[in-house]
Amino acid sequence: MAQLTNRRSFLKSTGALAGTVFMGGGAIAEEEKREVKNVIFLVADGMGVGTLSLTECWHQTRASQSLEWVQLYTQAGVVVSKQDTASANSMVTDSAAAGSAWGGGKRVNNGVINITPEGEELKPIGVHAKELGMSVGLVTTTRLTHATPAAFLASVQHRKMEEAIADQYLVAEADVYLGGGMKFFRQGERDLITKFEQKGYAFVDNKQSLKLNAGKDKLLGVFSHDHIPYAIDRVHQAFYSGLPNLVEMFEAALQTLEKNPNGFLLQIEGGRIDHAGHANDPGTIVHEQLEFDACIPVAMEYVRKNPGTLLVVTTDHGTAGCQLNGVGNAYRGTGEALAALADQQGSFEFMAEDAQGRGAFSSELFMQVMGWEAWPEIEQEVNDKLGIDKDLLARVYGKHCAGKYLAKTGVGWTSHEHTAELVDLLSYGAGAERFPPYLKNEDVHHILKGLLKRG
Ligand SMILES: [Zn+2]
Repeated sequence: MAQLTNRRSFLKSTGALAGTVFMGGGAIAEEEKREVKNVIFLVADGMGVGTLSLTECWHQTRASQSLEWVQLYTQAGVVVSKQDTASANSMVTDSAAAGSAWGGGKRVNNGVINITPEGEELKPIGVHAKELGMSVGLVTTTRLTHATPAAFLASVQHRKMEEAIADQYLVAEADVYLGGGMKFFRQGERDLITKFEQKGYAFVDNKQSLKLNAGKDKLLGVFSHDHIPYAIDRVHQAFYSGLPNLVEMFEAALQTLEKNPNGFLLQIEGGRIDHAGHANDPGTIVHEQLEFDACIPVAMEYVRKNPGTLLVVTTDHGTAGCQLNGVGNAYRGTGEALAALADQQGSFEFMAEDAQGRGAFSSELFMQVMGWEAWPEIEQEVNDKLGIDKDLLARVYGKHCAGKYLAKTGVGWTSHEHTAELVDLLSYGAGAERFPPYLKNEDVHHILKGLLKRG
């Protein structure tokens, strides 16, 4: 790889690569040509290396092959970097600060989007791309106004200002917005959807209408009130069958964005790997990671067919120290134990929402989802805490199931919080050689911006 990089830089310095034409001994640069036309930026939010390794092992036991992510390591032309994910005020970042480092190019405090501790407002990379005449797309399984997509297009003092973020989206006019979070677009008197439609957006809210409208000039898809339900629940619950998955949203976004001859910047976020980590929910995190993984071959094919496209595959931080641990004598029972993960038929969040809806913990549902008899301590604590946020209630399930899960499947956790671990950043296609083996999250912004420069 090092040799290839050197050869590329050598060719570049002699002007022998595309972009420069030799005529009669002199060199004339092609005008207004960017080194990179399109950027596809895939984010597996909150994916620590243990989550990747767990999913890889599970996938090996089920499909007898490696994850697409793992296959990238052996793919010619893929550059593998390690990324330091710290924020301005902590070694452990949150998604707002991590996204701002990529989006705005400077480290900010946790919780803040694209405003530095000194008060400087950073121009998000998506706004920059629009100024260059490119199209921009944000696609996520979280609320559209969640921190990671927001950091490519918005600036706010706190990530919780999600109505303000949605308002900024209307002004920024990205060409594609696909995700969840209707409550920040249309609720009560507030109706941003109509305002988007007045600006020429085709609005869609289910899988069918997404398919029909893919390729329209501007696309707004909001598929759920809050985050889009987890992949494991979409698979097992028939009433979620109208929801698109991440790959379907990705493909629809490409159809719209690729119409622009000036290229595009597209962020695709598997945003709920992080949430499953916070909840310490093993079956759910594996399904989230697998759904994200299915985006990688779509992106790789696009890059191969469309020279001038850069693909970045990365994560903003690890979450909760998910690990597959050895089970049994000389760990020989690990594979068999791991297979028990398939018994889980729904997320902890799904059970938490059900308990909140019916006003009590359901032993019957717990049995259906987990295949285990419930026990008094979990029932008691869930019933005591029914009024808290559903993501916090999901953690109660995670806390009580942790010991049993560890013994049964080998999957364990270090906390319910983010981690400081170094994470992967993989790049492929146009400009991939610009990513060094080790970088800070804010470096990513400057590399992308350099590659988008004209001339
Ligand atoms: Zn998180």
